[in-house]
Amino acid sequence: MLTEINLVLSPRDASDERYYKPLVAKYLKVNSDRITGIQILRRSIDARQRNIKMNMRFRVAYDETFPDIKLSDFTYQNVSDKKKVIVVGAGPAGLFAALRLIELGYCPIVLERGKSVEDRKKDLAAIHKNRLINPDSNYSFGEGGAGTFSDGKLYTRSKKRGNLKKILEVLHFHGAQEDILIDAHPHIGTDVLPKVIVRIRETIINSGGEVRFSTKVNHLLVKNDKISGVRIESGEEINAEAVILATGHSARDIYYLLDSQKIEVEAKSFAMGVRIEHSQKLIDQIQYHNPEGRGEYLPAASYSFVQQVDGRGVYSFCMCPGGVIVPAATGDQQQVVNGMSSSRRNTAFANSGMAVEILEEDLDDFKEYGALAGLKFQEDLEKLAFEKGGSDLTAPAQRMLDFVKGVSSSDLPISSYQPGLKSSAMHEWLPKHIGSRLQKGFKKFGEKSKGFLTNDAVILGVESRTSSPVRIPRDNKTLQHVRVSGLFPCGEGAGYAGGIVSAAMDGERCAEAFYNMKLE
Ligand code: FAD
Repeated sequence: MLTEINLVLSPRDASDERYYKPLVAKYLKVNSDRITGIQILRRSIDARQRNIKMNMRFRVAYDETFPDIKLSDFTYQNVSDKKKVIVVGAGPAGLFAALRLIELGYCPIVLERGKSVEDRKKDLAAIHKNRLINPDSNYSFGEGGAGTFSDGKLYTRSKKRGNLKKILEVLHFHGAQEDILIDAHPHIGTDVLPKVIVRIRETIINSGGEVRFSTKVNHLLVKNDKISGVRIESGEEINAEAVILATGHSARDIYYLLDSQKIEVEAKSFAMGVRIEHSQKLIDQIQYHNPEGRGEYLPAASYSFVQQVDGRGVYSFCMCPGGVIVPAATGDQQQVVNGMSSSRRNTAFANSGMAVEILEEDLDDFKEYGALAGLKFQEDLEKLAFEKGGSDLTAPAQRMLDFVKGVSSSDLPISSYQPGLKSSAMHEWLPKHIGSRLQKGFKKFGEKSKGFLTNDAVILGVESRTSSPVRIPRDNKTLQHVRVSGLFPCGEGAGYAGGIVSAAMDGERCAEAFYNMKLE
């Protein structure tokens, strides 16, 4: 007999088959030794009450052999002699577009300004050692894109727009842990994701596609509103009848390039703020309602806050339990922070972005930049934060409660941010439409979650790359640029995704849109 059952278990009982097998047997009213196999299909934590519960779904076989079920299985055909499609950017959007093109019988040529994962690691080490940012190889640029060295959270609110299950299965097929297919809030971790990215590269190359590193696109070849290829920095021109443009939201030069080539871009709302860091122990105590913290069987706890403040959303973003804060700038004179964690999420720190929604009306001083006003605002604030930190990637920082009260911090707690912190009166220099909303938002979060608003927590400036301030407009149906045919604006940089999984889904959609265009 093969069956599926739901059980609500304690964290200990859910942690190991030797604990849950007798409970499964009891539920099915069979003797334990009749059970031939148990597979976990779904796992989520219910931490609403003091008594934490695990909601589990199992597939169970008894009195018959457990079937051999492949969790993920994909075949990628050889496309070396097929029509070529250019994919600019090897982030999740570009890589998943390339994989999908192969499935559909087209040959992707992936052009990436940054280096391979292996070489990129050396440039990240250099950021910490010499405080120098390579503008083409850093925490945002290079193989795998912005999420390669991250927490690797794999959930999205935009499930409707694509096949989330398939994205997870493709990642699993390329080496991600089985847990991502089971957990309600899956994450990969920065120790695993780079290896997965390398295997995706191998799939593309073994199928006859190309992946070219240190290949920066600096011109789009467009004639009579039709794309015919791209020019790269060396001057070489590469031709194809379609270009999937998946350059991410940090590639500001691409927006300036499109603007200079008179290819329409438009302003969109976005969000900016700070990154906050608490001790993980405190977050565990709060979220699991237990002064002892998370104990032996629960993972590092996460949180999520959202609050309307003076007509704008203030919210936590990209929370990294057991993680570290990293310098995520992509150029000179920029102070940008972000977070990452390993698969085990086992540092003593919990960090999260805290962002405030920014609308066009907040950018009156930047009107002259038209559609690029938000971009200019971002650039200016990152430069100011860089100077406030001492112009060497040290982060300007303030204790949380001091920030809310509007007083400077005389000292700072220890932090995971390796380049170090410098006390700064952030309440004075953050733009008021961000700073004052964060102050009010933090108060509200403290009311919702006792202990969260504390001077043991510290805020670091600035969390400026939460979303793109620019959209590259495309037709809803064909996904091609509203004027330039054959150009597929894709992923986060084009304004159609916000995270690893939604970018990957958009990559697949663009590949499919190209395929549909060919069918017509
Ligand atoms: P990107 O990943 O930005 O990829 C764009 C690629 O294009 C880059 O590799 C870039 O080098 C390349 N490129 C740019 N310009 C050019 C050019 N002119 N020529 C050639 N190539 C070019 N999201 C999550 O969902 N979960 C997380 O846990 C998470 N953590 C993060 C942690 C950090 C430190 C950072 C920086 C981001 C994190 N994100 C996370 C966000 C996530 O990484 C992005 O949403 C996602 O990577 C966007 O995918 P994309 O493919 O659209 O763009």
